[in-house]
Parts: sequence; structure tokens; C-alpha cells
Amino acid sequence: MTRRDEIAAGLAAVRERIAAACASAGRPTGDVTLVVVTKYFPASDVGILADLGVTDVGENRHQEAEAKAQECADSGVAGLRWHFVGGLQSNKAAAVAAYADVVHSVDRVKLVERLDAGAGDRPVDVLLQVSLDPPGRDGRAGADPGDLGALAAAVTAADHLRLRGLMAVAPLGEEPSAAFARLAAIRNEFVTAHPEADWLSAGMSGDLEAAIAAGATHARVGTAVLGSRPSVQ
Ligand SMILES: *Cc1c(COP(=O)(O)O)cnc(C)c1O
Repeated sequence: MTRRDEIAAGLAAVRERIAAACASAGRPTGDVTLVVVTKYFPASDVGILADLGVTDVGENRHQEAEAKAQECADSGVAGLRWHFVGGLQSNKAAAVAAYADVVHSVDRVKLVERLDAGAGDRPVDVLLQVSLDPPGRDGRAGADPGDLGALAAAVTAADHLRLRGLMAVAPLGEEPSAAFARLAAIRNEFVTAHPEADWLSAGMSGDLEAAIAAGATHARVGTAVLGSRPSVQ
């Protein structure tokens, strides 16, 4: 099997899973955008994905993402939307906004001004990452649900950022559907205050069905499309 065949098979399987999950949730398949997470995989794989009709790719580490986006542009892979889905350091935020079209991981006000400064003249779409972990858990990423209002206000006030919605990761050690049910409730309340910000980025290789059942509009899928990530990182 060529790499292209491998990726095409993974992609077809994931698209089928998304279609089936949408059907059982009574939602049109077009409701869910597949973001293929290409971290640790080479730019050549991104080129194959684009050739297979993928429009959205995600990365979680700034240096790798920046280099890969540049390499793709240099080799004529055009028209992709680049999503930054990883933890964001304040001192990298402006640089991320220079190539990312969508940033999923905004969880503190300090990032907002830096992203806005780095965006240049083009709009950058922003999702607020909300934590589904209990407060105080180690390695917790994402804002407390109670802080979303202030964060949303900061994004709305920024010149080059567009508030699009929320993002979350299901906590380890918990049934994803239980975590995503909490997320759906948080999102309901959020959308009432910000009707234009109705994207919900949730669901990965292992839990995309549960996320789509809970209303996800963007699934971030790596392994199920591209295979296991190379262990040398
Ligand atoms: C790596 C990553 C994914 C994709 O995970 P898979 O289990 O490989 O599908 C999704 N979201 C984020 C934030 C990630 O870092």
C-alpha cells in the first residue's frame, strides 16, 4: 500500500464514522467539519490530504506548524485552512496568528491581545477552550466555564479576531459522553449570549461519535486518518 492509499483508507473510514454519527444524531453530515490533525506527520502527508479533498488541517506545536505551513505553501499546496489546536504560550501567540486561520485553544485574556497583534490585516477565527476537568487537576487546559464571558468580551473587542465558539477535550478517565453532555450545557448557555459563536470543536479519533451526538461542529482527528504518530517526536 502506498502512503496515499493508506491515508485515503483512513480518511474514508473517518468520513463514514462522521456521516453515521450525524445520521444517528439527526443532523446533516455537512454540519461537521473534519479537521485532520497532522502533528508529527510530514508536509508530504498534508499534500496528500489536500489532494484527497481535505480542507482543514490542525497542528498543536508552534514551531512544527509554522515550518509545515511554510513548506506546504512553498510546494504549492494551497487553499488549506490551518487550525492551531494545542496549548498556546503567550510569547508564541502572535507568531501563531500569522499563519493560523483558526485558533482553538484560547483560554486566557492575555492571549487575545497577542493574537490580535499577530493577525495582521486578516481575520483570525477564535474558539475559547473550556476545561471539562475538575478544578485543580494537573495539566488542566482550558478556561473555567465561569470565565468564558470575560474571554468572549475580550475577543469581541479585538480588531482582527472573530469569536466563533468553544473547544474542549474530554478528560482522561471519564466516559466521553458524560463530559460532552456537560460541554453541551455550557455551549447552550454560551450561544444564548453569543449567537454568532456556534462552532463546537470536540471529538478526536476515540470519541468523535460522542462529540457529534453532543453537538460538535468540528472534529479534530489525527490517528484514525493518518495512523499512529511516529514515536520520535
Ligand atoms: C492530537 C490532537 C488531536 C487528535 O487526536 P487523535 O486521538 O490522534 O485523533 C485532537 N485534538 C488535539 C487538541 C490534539 O492535540
